[in-house]
This record gives sequence, C-alpha cells and structure tokens, in this order.
Amino acid sequence: MEFEELVCYSQTAILIVLGIGYLVNIRNKTGKPKLKAKNICPLCDYIISDQSVNYCAKCGNMVSHSKGLSLKK
Ligand SMILES: [Zn+2]
Repeated sequence: MEFEELVCYSQTAILIVLGIGYLVNIRNKTGKPKLKAKNICPLCDYIISDQSVNYCAKCGNMVSHSKGLSLKK
C-alpha cells in the first residue's frame, strides 16, 4: 500500500464530493423559486405562515412539510 497514492485518491474523492455538493446547491437555488420558508396550499395557494400548522386554514387541505415531495401521488 503506497501512502502517496492513497492521499491522491482521497483528495480526488474530496474534490468530487465538493463538486457534487456545489451542483446540488445551484440546483436547489434555481429549481425552487417559491416554497422557501412558508407552506403554500397546493389547492388554493393560501399561504400558511405558521410552520407548525400542516393544514390549509382556508380549504382544509393537508399540507406536507416535506416541501411538496409527497403531494403529487
Ligand atoms: Zn387551501
């Protein structure tokens, strides 16, 4: 086992991880224009300002806290 080779590999791996993290960060910034800090009802677009409330006060629709991932099933 050569130590220098190991260091080289680990540095390459770190660079790849950093690169992926950078790309994911850019995607998150550009791909989600809304749904930042507020919950928005997908049915009536009512803005639910209270983060602890997970249902729409206007139409009663349940709103997921996972930022809409499980809403379209
Ligand atoms: Zn609603």
